[in-house]
Amino acid sequence: MKSAILVINSGSSSLKFSLIDINSRAVLISGIAEKLGFSDAFLTIKTSVKERFNLSPTNHAGAMEKILSVLHQLQLSNSIAAVGHRVVHGGEQFKTATLIDETVISVIEKCISYAPLHNPAHLEGIKAAMTFAPTIPHVAVFDTAFHQTLAPEAFLYAVPYDLYKKHGVRRYGFHGTSHRYVCQEAAKLVEIDIENSSFITAHLGNGASAAAILNGKSVDTSMGFTPLEGLVMGTRSGDIDPALVPYIANSLNISAEQVVEMLNKKSGLLGISELSSDLRELQEAASSGHEGAILAIDVFVHRLARYIGALSVSLPRIDALIFTGGIGENSTLIREKTIQKLQVLGFELDSERNQQIIGGQQGIITKASSTKAMVVGTNEELMIALDTASFL
Ligand code: ADP
Repeated sequence: MKSAILVINSGSSSLKFSLIDINSRAVLISGIAEKLGFSDAFLTIKTSVKERFNLSPTNHAGAMEKILSVLHQLQLSNSIAAVGHRVVHGGEQFKTATLIDETVISVIEKCISYAPLHNPAHLEGIKAAMTFAPTIPHVAVFDTAFHQTLAPEAFLYAVPYDLYKKHGVRRYGFHGTSHRYVCQEAAKLVEIDIENSSFITAHLGNGASAAAILNGKSVDTSMGFTPLEGLVMGTRSGDIDPALVPYIANSLNISAEQVVEMLNKKSGLLGISELSSDLRELQEAASSGHEGAILAIDVFVHRLARYIGALSVSLPRIDALIFTGGIGENSTLIREKTIQKLQVLGFELDSERNQQIIGGQQGIITKASSTKAMVVGTNEELMIALDTASFL
């Protein structure tokens, strides 16, 4: 009986996979091929133990072939019912997960101009997997799809309307798979019917975004045309005044593209702290008085609280604020500082509960009389597997 879904997430030089049993929801095996395209490419596979294979110079196709041959040796390949592929950008065309065929591939190709770093890598992974596993269904699960329910008032920029009609200039939103997963889990946890729910989700990892979710549908979100807009992130600036782009370009004598690269890769927590993009390191440095680290954390929290306030106007009430992602699930400090700033929305932290809920725990971290804030672990791979399984 085929009951496993192979979930693939391919990046520009990496290819992550997990094989998930759809009945038990357990990860049977997972791994990552790294440094693809370089001479020292390697594959790490995790079952009960970790095993490393050198891949010699290879690309996504070579990695996929090796992964499938390992699965074959472990007698797992016969259990694969379908393959689910994470795709960052599906434009306006894809509102749900979609069975991949030639037409779907060509639409993902068309979306390359919206996500030049991500979609080409996803296509590499899709084509490789379809070559080596041609007889099983392949499904694309898009980060943007969940936010396709935004109304024009939430997704339009106030720029000439023609830019939207002719060039697709609008807010798309990302991390949809995570926002959707955690709001469904939160509804179960607080025993609310998802069809009558009103949540704000904060996915805080290296990338970070927040969303307002009404009755299980996204109605507003912080990321925009690209994943650069919105919250302060590890290395991304989030919102800035667009007039800064030519100003920085002129001041530093660099191109607009180089400014955007700076906003993506050298800004955010890293840019302000001049130390690290990793919150754990910043928390440690801040506790010993590092001024840049303290400042970076303060700006991160201020922007996050401001967005939660802004997103609340898209909802009739707040059933719960949900923290997730590496930071949301583990940083008691960020949660504490953020909730302290949200008293106007009725949030009051239960400090003891906040300290207890780390490292995969989930639960409510506010006082009984307060608007609820809670922690829910995200599981994008499982959500992709469930979406993929729904095609079987
Ligand atoms: P990605 O977006 O790459 O999936 P993650 O969701 O793994 O990222 O989140 C990474 C972030 O989570 C990093 O800033 C890391 O420092 C932070 N993080 C992980 N564990 C902790 C912890 N125990 N305390 C504070 N921050 C943590």
